[in-house]
Amino acid sequence: MKKDFAVIGLGRFGGSICKELSDKGMHVLAIDSDEAKVNEYKNIAYHSVVLDATDEDALKEIGITNFDHVIVAIGENIQASILTAVILTDLDIKRITVKAQNDYHDKILNRIGVHHVVHPERDMGKRLAHSFISNNILEY
Ligand code: ATP
Repeated sequence: MKKDFAVIGLGRFGGSICKELSDKGMHVLAIDSDEAKVNEYKNIAYHSVVLDATDEDALKEIGITNFDHVIVAIGENIQASILTAVILTDLDIKRITVKAQNDYHDKILNRIGVHHVVHPERDMGKRLAHSFISNNILEY
C-alpha cells in the first residue's frame, strides 16, 4: 500500500530518508527552506517544495494534514525543529517523527507529543556496536 510521507529538512538524514522511501515507491513530499536542497530532490521525490516549516499557514496551504507520516529532519536549528513539531502536533498529524539533536531536545519533543523521536547517530552507533559483538561471537 502506498503511503504519503512528507520529509522536512533535506540534510544527510532527511535526504537519505526521502531517497529510500522514494526508491521503495512511496509518495514523498520533500520540503526544505533552502531552494538548492529542494532542487537536488526534484527528480527523486514525488513532489518538492521550498518552504519554511515554522510557517503554519504555508504548511496548511500545501495540505500537510493529508500526509500519513511527517518526518522532521531539521538538525542544527533546534528552535525551528521544536516550533515545527508544535505546529504538526497541533494539526493532529497521524504520525510525526522528529530527529533530536540532544537529550533536552528529545525531552521537549516528547512533552509536545511527538510520536517518535530519533537520534540517528546515537542509534546507528549502538546498532553497529551490537553487530561488532555478534560478529566477534561468530568468529570464535
Ligand atoms: P544532517 O546531519 O542530516 O546533514 P543536520 O543535522 O546538519 O543535518 P541541518 O543541515 O542543520 O541538519 O538541517 C537539515 C536541513 O533542514 C537543511 O537542509 C536546512 O536547510 C533545513 N531547514 C532548516 N530549518 C528549516 C525550516 N525552518 N524549514 C524547512 N527546512 C529547514
